[in-house]
Amino acid sequence: VPDDLPTVVIDAHGLPYLDPRLPVGKRVEDLLSRMTLDEKIGQMTQAERGALEAQDDIAGYELGSLLSGGGSNPAPNTPEAWADMVDGFQLRARQTRLQIPLIYGVDAVHGHNNVVGATIFPHNTGLGAARDPELVRDTAHVTATEVRATGIPWNFSPCLCVSRDERWGRAYEAYSEDPALVTRLATAVEGHQGHADGRDLKDADRVLATAKHYVGDGGTEFGSSTTGTYTIDQGVTRTTRQELEAVHIAPFVEAVDEGVGTVMPSFSSVDFLGDDEGPVKMHAHADLITDVLKGELGFDGFVISDWQAIDQIPGDYASDVRTSVNAGLDMIMVPYDYKAFTSTLREQVDSGAVPMSRIDDAVTRILTKKFQLGLFEKPYADRTHLDDVGSAKHRGLAREAAADSQVLLKNEGGLLPLKGDEKLYVAGSNADDLGNQAGGWTITWQGTPGDITEGTTILEGLREVAPDAEVTFSEDASAPTGGHEVGVVVVGETPYAEGVGDVGNGHDLELSEADRKAIDTVCGAMDCAVLIVSGRPQIVTDQLGDIDALVASWLPGSQGEGVADTLFGERPFTGRLPVSWPRSAGQVPVNVGDEQYAPLFPYGWGLRTDNARDRLADVRDELLERRRDGAARAAAAHLHHALKRSHWRADGTVRDADAVLGALGKAAGKLERAGGDLYLPADDLVSVARDIAQGALVRAGGDAPERAAARTADADHALASGAYAAAVRHLAEAHRLAR
Ligand code: BGC
Repeated sequence: VPDDLPTVVIDAHGLPYLDPRLPVGKRVEDLLSRMTLDEKIGQMTQAERGALEAQDDIAGYELGSLLSGGGSNPAPNTPEAWADMVDGFQLRARQTRLQIPLIYGVDAVHGHNNVVGATIFPHNTGLGAARDPELVRDTAHVTATEVRATGIPWNFSPCLCVSRDERWGRAYEAYSEDPALVTRLATAVEGHQGHADGRDLKDADRVLATAKHYVGDGGTEFGSSTTGTYTIDQGVTRTTRQELEAVHIAPFVEAVDEGVGTVMPSFSSVDFLGDDEGPVKMHAHADLITDVLKGELGFDGFVISDWQAIDQIPGDYASDVRTSVNAGLDMIMVPYDYKAFTSTLREQVDSGAVPMSRIDDAVTRILTKKFQLGLFEKPYADRTHLDDVGSAKHRGLAREAAADSQVLLKNEGGLLPLKGDEKLYVAGSNADDLGNQAGGWTITWQGTPGDITEGTTILEGLREVAPDAEVTFSEDASAPTGGHEVGVVVVGETPYAEGVGDVGNGHDLELSEADRKAIDTVCGAMDCAVLIVSGRPQIVTDQLGDIDALVASWLPGSQGEGVADTLFGERPFTGRLPVSWPRSAGQVPVNVGDEQYAPLFPYGWGLRTDNARDRLADVRDELLERRRDGAARAAAAHLHHALKRSHWRADGTVRDADAVLGALGKAAGKLERAGGDLYLPADDLVSVARDIAQGALVRAGGDAPERAAARTADADHALASGAYAAAVRHLAEAHRLAR
C-alpha cells in the first residue's frame, strides 16, 4: 500500500458519469454505454481477497467486488490495517480504463466482528430477546460506522432468517422463530443505510446492507442433506407457498420497504408441497428471485450470490453460471473461481444463452449502488471514524444491548437481582471466556474460545459492577464452601458457525458433562443463579428444580458488564424469549403456533425485575402531561382509576387484576385509535399487562404457562401488528387461564 493515495480529482473531463451533479440514473446510463462486455462481466464478479492469484487480477479481470469471507485468514488485525488493505485494492481497481471503484463486502454480523478491537454486539438471537426495534437500528448504525471507517462500504447483514429448528447451526443468526418479530427488527436495514431512498449512503457512518438469506434458510429439514450427514444448513425447506410467504418472505418485504440495497439468496432449496417439481436451489429460483423479489416486492437493488453457491446448482459449470444469472442473480460470489466465472459467463452471453439485457440489468443495479455510496467521488477509506472503532461510546451501547437481551426464565424467592455485597461463588466454563461469549463470526469464521479480542468477560463484569461483592472463581466448581455464599454458574456453548454448528456435527443442545457437574455442585450447596451463554436453548429440564434463578444470556458479545448490570439490578431484566425453550432435545423443533405446544418455557416468556406499578404510574403521568390530547386524557383516566382501586402487593400479586387488565385494555384501545406517537405508551401498557399475566402464571405453577402459551403468543402477534387493545385482551385471557 503506497503511503500517499492519489487524490481523486472531481473533474468530469466531459464524461457525464464522473459528474456528481448529475442524477445517478443518468450517470449509470452513460457509464453503461461506454462499457465493453468484459467490463460488464467484471462488475458482476466478486472474488475473495485472500484468493486473488495476483493483485493485478483486480484490474486484469475488471473485478467489480472483493470480499473478506468468513474463512479468510489471517486478516489484518487493526482497524487501520484494514483500511490500508482495502485502499490498496481500491487503488488497483482505479487503474482500469473506466476507473470504476470496487465495492468491498464483509460479514459484520454483530459488530465489525473480523476486526480485533471492534465493538462486538450480542448475536441476533439476543437482540431478538431485547425486542427493541430502535436498539437494533442503533447497533446496526454503530456497526455501519465501524465498518465504513475501515474503507468497507458493504455489509452482508442483517440475517432476516426465521429459525424454526434450533438444531440448525445458524440459529443464533436469527432474531426469532416468529416472523412478526423478525419483521419488526428489520430496522437493522435503516441502521446500516439510513433513509430508505439511499440519500445517506454516501455518509461516513453508513454502509449498504444485505438482507439474507432469501429465502427459507431457517426452515430446512433435519437430516435432509444430500451428503447423508445430519446437516440441515443448506438443506431443503419443504413448505407451501402460503407458508413460505407468511413465515420466511415476510421479513424481506419489510427490508425491501426500508430500501435494502442487496439481497443474498440462501444456499438452501425450496420444495413446494403439492407440485412435483422437487427441490429447487434458491440460487436457481427464477420465480422467487426475479418474479417475486424483484417483481412483486419491487426490490431495485442487486442480488449477490452466496459463497460458491452456484456450484451447488445441478449440471456443469456453464449451466451453473447460466442458470443463476438468468434466475436473476446480479453479482456472483466466486471466491476462488473468478477466472473461470468470467470466461464462462462471456461464452454464455456470446452464445445467446444469457441475454445481453440481463447483463445490462445486473450491471445497472450494481453501478447504481456504487454511485449512491459515493464511491466514484470517495473511493478510499474516509477515516473520520477510525478512532471510534471500539470506542467507549460504542461499547456503552453494546453493554446496554447485552443487558437488555438477558431473559430471566426463573427467579425463585426473588434471588435476582443480587444486592452487590454478597459472597459470590462464580463457576462454569463460560464465566470467564470472551471468545465463548462472543460465539461464531468473531475474529475468525467459526469463532474460538479464549482471549480473542478486546472486551470484558462476564466474571470481569461482575467484579466491575459490584466491587463490594466478594468473588471467588473456580471454573470447574471445585470445593465450594457453601454457607453464606450465592452461586453464579455460567455455562453453555463453545463457538461455532455455519455447517459445523449443526447438531450431528459435534454439537448438540445438551450441556457438557462439566457444565452439568458445575450446576449440580454449586446449586446443591447454596442458592444459585445459572446463566446460559449460548446461541440457542440448552436442555436444563433435569437441573431446573435445583436452580433458583435461571437466565438465558445468549451470546452477549464483548461487554460482559451488560450481563452483570442485570444481575445486580443496575438495569432491570426486560428480555423475553425470542424462541421456544424445549424440554428435551427430542422435542425440537418446537415453535409457537404448533398444535402440540408444550415447551419448558414458551415463546415470549421472560420475568421482569422492574416494578409494573411504577411503570404504569409513569405512563399515566406521561399521558397527563399531554392532557390537551383527548385520547391521552381518556387513557390517563382509565389508568388512574386502575392504580387507585387495585392493590399491588409486595410479591407482585395484583388484587382485582381483572379490573386492572380491563382498564389497561380500554386505555390501550384509546391510544391505538388515536394513532400517532401514542403507540409508545400503548406498548408500555401491553408490557405491564404481560407482567401481571406472567406473574400469575408463575405463581400458579404446574402446566399453567403451557396452557396459556397460545394466548401469550396471540398477544405477541397482536402487538406486532399494532393491535394493542387486542394484545391486552389476550394477556387478560392468559391471566384467567392461570386459575
Ligand atoms: C455465508 C454468508 C456469508 C458469506 C460470505 C457464506 O458461507 O452463508 O452468510 O455472507 O459466506 O462470507
